Amino acid sequence: MSALSSIPSALLKIVICSSVLGPHLFGRLYYYKTMGFISFVHRNTFRLHENPTMHPEKPERLAAIDRAVAKSGIGSLLINTTPCAASENDLSIVHSPSYIEQIEEAAKRARNENKLIQLDSDTFMSQQTFEVAKLAAGASMTAIDTLAKDDISSSFVAVRPPGHHAMSQRQMGFCIFNNIAIAANYARKHLGHKRVLIIDWDVHHGNGTQDIFYDDPGIFFISMHQYPHWPYETGWLDEVGVGEGKGFNLNIPLPPGTGDQGHLRAWDSIIEPVSHEYKPDIILVSAGYDAHQSDYMSNQNVTTQGFGMLAGRLQKLSQALDIKTACFLEGGYHTEALAESVVATLNALAKAPSQIEEEESITADQAPEELESRLQLLRKQFDQYWDCFK
Ligand SMILES: [Zn+2]
Repeated sequence: MSALSSIPSALLKIVICSSVLGPHLFGRLYYYKTMGFISFVHRNTFRLHENPTMHPEKPERLAAIDRAVAKSGIGSLLINTTPCAASENDLSIVHSPSYIEQIEEAAKRARNENKLIQLDSDTFMSQQTFEVAKLAAGASMTAIDTLAKDDISSSFVAVRPPGHHAMSQRQMGFCIFNNIAIAANYARKHLGHKRVLIIDWDVHHGNGTQDIFYDDPGIFFISMHQYPHWPYETGWLDEVGVGEGKGFNLNIPLPPGTGDQGHLRAWDSIIEPVSHEYKPDIILVSAGYDAHQSDYMSNQNVTTQGFGMLAGRLQKLSQALDIKTACFLEGGYHTEALAESVVATLNALAKAPSQIEEEESITADQAPEELESRLQLLRKQFDQYWDCFK
């Protein structure tokens, strides 16, 4: 699967720009000279994966994002990119053949019996889920391919089902295939990246991604999430990796009630310094928006502007390191808050670092002392692996 990478760069630019050049041509040329475009990987097909009525992970999430993006005026800076589906061979860079087969079988049952198949307490397969999930996994590889082009500085992958709870041999928490893990291994295999940084700001611990790369020093996984919170068994700061992967798994467990302030504090005091020391070749982000103050899935208090500020820091970091970034949609269940926060992210990714102003955090933390004591504990836990924490 590398349809895009087989197209020469100059031709690809013409192909992917051709449908969108027009009234915004001059805006595009301006940004081409400064920041580059954002590859926006999306497709209506992702709405075909169904869950039971009232399930929070619903097709409307993506429809709301498309509406908000269209309304925002940022469209002139996006390259609308059509994803290619992952083959079963592509999926096997993360998932076991027996698991892929099991998912395929469940899809057959869904079609034959014309009903949803329940895989666990909250993960379901509908008739088209297998195809849609393969397309979501393929979209993650498409995003990596587009980053190889000179005029694209970042990617945003708006897909469902999400991926960061899925493990090599097991679905979990609405996730079938681990899209970001597939992207990370694809980036290593096809672009030769040696150090991949994954930052997960979804409100739930990215336990699937942690599990897949726990002994792998080539992937540095950092997750900031509400703790305690689902999935409960994982996410504390003493989960540092095993074997050669020790020190390359870093959890930032935020107390319930953490607002913009605490999330930015975690970024500035932990993610920023350790990223500079790690010197990644690429940054991938599990971009979940369920820490939003309007999202009933958590008790956090992040605003839409707060997500914009986090994305601004991401943009500054990737520019300082002179590398590219790809964001992969995970959670976010208040559709309007999700859609607005995605637009805030895209706006930040479109800016040059000099255009990103230092803004005051809007919401404070309910338990600032608890947060500070956890961050101190974390620094102590990791000072044997990273000098920046000494
Ligand atoms: Zn989540």
